[in-house]
Amino acid sequence: MFQEKIIDDNILEKMSLENVFKIFNDNVFPMLNEEEREYCQELQEFSLDLHPNIDKSKDVYGLLPELGKRGYIQRINPWKDFKPYGMKKEILLGTHLSLLDPQLELARLATGILCGNPTFHYYEHGGKSDIPSKVQDELLSGQKIGCIGITEPERGSDAVNLTTKCTKTDDGVIFNGEKVYTTNGAVADYFACYGVYDEGNPRDTMVQAIIAREFGVRTERLKINSVPRVQIAHTILDNVLVPHEYVLADDGLGYKRLFEGLVPERLSIMGSGVGICWAGLIYGIIYTNLRKQFGKPVIRYQGVGYGLADLLTKTNAATALALQAATVFDERILFTEKPSKEAEKWVASISSQGKYYLAKLAHEVCYEVQQHMGGVSVTDNTPVDELVDVSKIEEVIGGARNIQLLLIQHQIQRYTGLL
Ligand SMILES: Cc1cc2nc3c(=O)[nH]c(=O)nc-3n(C[C@H](O)[C@H](O)[C@H](O)COP(=O)(O)OP(=O)(O)OC[C@H]3O[C@@H](n4cnc5c(N)ncnc54)[C@H](O)[C@@H]3O)c2cc1C
Repeated sequence: MFQEKIIDDNILEKMSLENVFKIFNDNVFPMLNEEEREYCQELQEFSLDLHPNIDKSKDVYGLLPELGKRGYIQRINPWKDFKPYGMKKEILLGTHLSLLDPQLELARLATGILCGNPTFHYYEHGGKSDIPSKVQDELLSGQKIGCIGITEPERGSDAVNLTTKCTKTDDGVIFNGEKVYTTNGAVADYFACYGVYDEGNPRDTMVQAIIAREFGVRTERLKINSVPRVQIAHTILDNVLVPHEYVLADDGLGYKRLFEGLVPERLSIMGSGVGICWAGLIYGIIYTNLRKQFGKPVIRYQGVGYGLADLLTKTNAATALALQAATVFDERILFTEKPSKEAEKWVASISSQGKYYLAKLAHEVCYEVQQHMGGVSVTDNTPVDELVDVSKIEEVIGGARNIQLLLIQHQIQRYTGLL
């Protein structure tokens, strides 16, 4: 199980996933209603069953069909008869999967949300082709793997001005370009990709399409030390012909869908962040309660105990923010005939604020917990070091830290209009 075990048996026994859930529930359940608690309990039973079958020396992809069987590849949108669904359920799903296996959660989010969501948006906007529905079923059952290709070697934060060139023909749209950091890309069957007909006018010419690997996509895996069980790729689109039925949004509509998609994506990433914060913190709380030095548990030393108290306060505040953002999204946007413009504006801004805060906090929590726990936390004897590694990635994906701040700044500089 470990390369070499040094952790005390009595402490190891208490650092179980079951105990992690007990402490999580004690903190978070009072913020949830009956239906949400039941849903969390199902997720916890599922996680406790799957946990012994997770082999940390293997990549995560063999686990996706297990998630698919229970409808846990995503939970924002209704799919088959899986209930309950909505943004709050998605946040709670991401939280639990991060507690279970944060690398699995990263891959799940890329296939289920980043690639899966555009297939739902296609039908919400009146799309008629059967293909996205077939792709959706394959992705959400965990039988096929999806990814999203926005970022290019020369276009990272500047995601509007894409250079991937699209050319329309009678048979479909030809894509030429390169994408980088494509999470799941090296093993993906489907790529939700963006390109433009005219580089000088991306807003009016952006295309969004689902590209099947067999159309000729080539991928080369990148070496990313912090998430070795997730395959992140450099993706090459060299004269890839995409039939019209796979084009989800054409002639500039791709731009609208790209930005429409970012809000639920960021809210979902908040769910992963909530789980990483709680996981790191709870392992730290259990360990420092049991580890003794100078004759008493180290948590009783102010340097340790107050530090953990500070992290708990921030984690609870961030959790409340994520749950509240999801509640507003569900009640005033997702589950209503007439979405509120005011709520849409608020959620767009709060999704940047929350993604920014949670990703940063996840890293702070896990790093600080390591300092409070001492040496054992940097070995493979506890899950904390893996959590630190994944927390680094959370801050870059879905738009790096400064881009969230840039969006928030845009919001606050408009306030002169209110004065
Ligand atoms: C592990 C991993 C997984 C990823 N997964 C995916 C994926 O699946 N699909 C996908 O499409 N992309 C993915 N990304 C890409 C990710 O979204 C980008 O890395 C991110 O958008 C930043 O782009 P960049 O890395 O090119 O940095 P750059 O855009 O080059 O930015 C470099 C620095 O400059 C700052 N900066 C840039 N512009 C501004 C500005 N206007 N104001 C202030 N600061 C600015 C940035 O914040 C950053 O600090 C992933 C990235 C990583 C590392």
